[in-house]
Amino acid sequence: MKRIAVVDKDKCNPAGCGNYLCAKLCPIDREGSDCIFVGDDKKAKIDEALCIGCGICVHRCPFGAIEIINLPVELERNPIHRYGQNEFALYSLPTPIFGKVVGVLGVNGIGKSTAIKIIAGVLKPNLGDFTRAATFQEVVGYFKGTEAQAFFEAVRDGKIVPAYKPQSVDKIPQQFSGSVRDLLTKADQKGQFTQITQSLDLTKILDNDIKNISGGELQRVAIAATALKKANLYIFDEPTSYLDIKQRLKVSDLIKCLADDHTAVLVIDHDLIILDYMTDLVHLMYGKERVFGAVSLPKSTRTGINVYLGGYLKEENIRFRDHEIHFGSKPPDHKEGKTIVSSWKDVSKKLGNFLLSAAGGSIRQSDIIGILGENGIGKTSFIKMLAKAMDPDFGVIDEKVMVAYKPQYLQPNSELVLTVLHDAIARYEAQLIKPLNLKGLFTKQLDQLSGGELQRVAIAHCLSQKADLYLLDEPSAHLDVEQRLLVSRIIHDLMELRGTSCIVIDHDLLFIDYLSKKIMVFDGEPAVRGEVHGPFSMQDGMNKFLSNLNMTFRRDHESNRPRANKPGSQMDREQKAENKLYYS
Ligand code: SF4
Ligand code: SF4
Repeated sequence: MKRIAVVDKDKCNPAGCGNYLCAKLCPIDREGSDCIFVGDDKKAKIDEALCIGCGICVHRCPFGAIEIINLPVELERNPIHRYGQNEFALYSLPTPIFGKVVGVLGVNGIGKSTAIKIIAGVLKPNLGDFTRAATFQEVVGYFKGTEAQAFFEAVRDGKIVPAYKPQSVDKIPQQFSGSVRDLLTKADQKGQFTQITQSLDLTKILDNDIKNISGGELQRVAIAATALKKANLYIFDEPTSYLDIKQRLKVSDLIKCLADDHTAVLVIDHDLIILDYMTDLVHLMYGKERVFGAVSLPKSTRTGINVYLGGYLKEENIRFRDHEIHFGSKPPDHKEGKTIVSSWKDVSKKLGNFLLSAAGGSIRQSDIIGILGENGIGKTSFIKMLAKAMDPDFGVIDEKVMVAYKPQYLQPNSELVLTVLHDAIARYEAQLIKPLNLKGLFTKQLDQLSGGELQRVAIAHCLSQKADLYLLDEPSAHLDVEQRLLVSRIIHDLMELRGTSCIVIDHDLLFIDYLSKKIMVFDGEPAVRGEVHGPFSMQDGMNKFLSNLNMTFRRDHESNRPRANKPGSQMDREQKAENKLYYS
């Protein structure tokens, strides 16, 4: 059996473990061979050919730096790419298909971005020989007999012209100076500047400096710049981050339009409703985070997402979750708590030219309230007023409650995770630290964490505080599907356990549906006026929100998950006539 050994260089600390404890305990080393040895970088290295997979080093390393995994039989071959000795290995790639939008779905750290960087030509694969990049001919040979062979032959022959939107758009202001118009004019190889900027609502910000635009605007600019390039393979890595639902749907419509008989599109995203709406086929990625990743055969999007929720890949015989994820066709029964923990009446607040108003509402004990609404409509400002981080100009907000608040944008600094999570470690090891997998981050500084790691730390920090009301602003940002559903469960269980209440602002409708017991809706005109409505029951809240969007959702008959109806379809018309826009 072939196995793979990965040593996390950041965690490996020979001075702290008593001088290569793993090598002292390894039975192969004890017999005189060098299975575990000291690498040039002074970290532990493991010879995978000698390792017998006893697991002693894995269990005894005090820093959890080692992973030894027995590979499934079908992966007993060289990887398509390995970053270095005892580093992450990727075993296969998704296949772009002309005329189709193909989605890639999988947890963070499973190699999705590595895979699409290889397809985009940004990263040269090495076929497991990390001393050199493979030639095109070697790559074609590697994929012989598979669908990917034809694709790499086309790459070899210079017939594939890729356009790639990377995952992280926050780096664009460091790489480009000038206005949005300058950047998009430079990118426009197709002469579609007006059409694409209009379709993504960028017209009003064309003369703004790239350095001064918001995360959501930057995301749409990056998508527009990619779509404006002349290419026959478009690749989008997480195009929905920072966008509200309306913007996600507009971006999806644009991306769908790019695929034709001569053009293929690949998309990675964690918003299942949008991935379902936007793609024709999906690949699921499986493996072990930060150790190895592999790609399933393509499946129709509906089947692929249901398989993902089921947690079992039949063809590959891989179980990647020990339980299935279910959705209810009806909203869950929610017993109204007797105690009111916060309330407001006739509140208004002027912020520059923007006016926010809330007629009246209350939050009761054990409520979990999802907030839905466009960007720039005052959701964060309202939550700040509830958190007493900002006072209203007029009206009353009940001041009796203790509030814990997780802001939308997290400011990393040099503080250690261990210090920030002091209370969570002392009191919520089982409820927060373990499920959010935070132990391995304790010795890192906040500014050394990835976006997803920082988000998990911030959620744990907020939920570990003593409070009556928890306010979480966009907790799903940078989290994968699995982590989003996990966070929903954690919030639910903690609120039940403590009899406290929680408000969550988010743009992932499936996450909000899975988590919430009630809904608040914000509407109005972005940057001009915002009006706060609710809290409502799930049914009334979803109906109000979707009527603003002019959309309806049906239930998948297998998994019960919500799926967007095609505007104007028979289901869409029937559900609108019955005013059952979300729950039928
Ligand atoms: Fe020590 Fe763990 Fe590094 Fe081995 S892997 S040298 S046990 S810290
Ligand atoms: Fe040695 Fe492999 Fe056992 Fe680790 S798992 S102690 S490397 S034989």
